[in-house]
Amino acid sequence: MTTVGLKRVRCIVCGWRGEKSVILSTSSFGPPGLDLRPPPPHGSSVDLWVMDCPQCGYCAPDISEPIDIGDPSGSAGGTLDDAVDRRDAWRRVVRKLMSDDRYRSPFGIKDAVPQEAMTHLRCGVLELAGGRSADAGHSALRAAWICDDNAASSAGDDPRDVAAQCRRAALGLFQQAREAHQPFATDRIHEELLLIDLLRRTGDFVVAAERLSDLPRDIHDEERAIAVRQQGWVALQDRAAHHAQERPPEASVR
Ligand SMILES: [Zn+2]
Repeated sequence: MTTVGLKRVRCIVCGWRGEKSVILSTSSFGPPGLDLRPPPPHGSSVDLWVMDCPQCGYCAPDISEPIDIGDPSGSAGGTLDDAVDRRDAWRRVVRKLMSDDRYRSPFGIKDAVPQEAMTHLRCGVLELAGGRSADAGHSALRAAWICDDNAASSAGDDPRDVAAQCRRAALGLFQQAREAHQPFATDRIHEELLLIDLLRRTGDFVVAAERLSDLPRDIHDEERAIAVRQQGWVALQDRAAHHAQERPPEASVR
């Protein structure tokens, strides 16, 4: 069960004051998704993992707090010894980032995205500005989960395509994270299993199958079992969300 409460916040960028919904407590039951989405109810509360300021558009896990964008003094010039100066420099850099096209259309996604998904994507843009590709990748992935949930609950426009766009953004960001030696899962095998699921969910079944066959032979039985199930979903060209223990129809598993 997830308990939600209201928190009084003051936006650290523009000073807007108001109340935002926050998770007071939550829990998870069952296996995670193949893309590491926590099981419900925690995994279903992803829209509450970030906040957006209705006045200036700042997006962060808590808009009362500065998101880490690296050292802002490089953009401000000179050395910033004073905390107030550092905070002002941080605000200038964040305002500049927020005025950029890359914040309006994060990761090149121009199609309509659910507001809560957009909040995660914009948080990802700021994380990436701080050189945090792994965190930005997870923000894009969380945006995809919200698009999935909206696709399941609405009969109108199909947001599944924007979910795929968010996943492609996540794939690119996780590749950048790997190049920057930033871990984005508990170990290399789980990173591979996550990338393979992102490829399957975006319909890139050929590359997903190649990466599955490139997995090391000596992985643990549990990970091997997940890989075999994933192989079944890839063989079926199935793009749906599945949890890690879910078995594809027998015929598809070699
Ligand atoms: Zn604000």
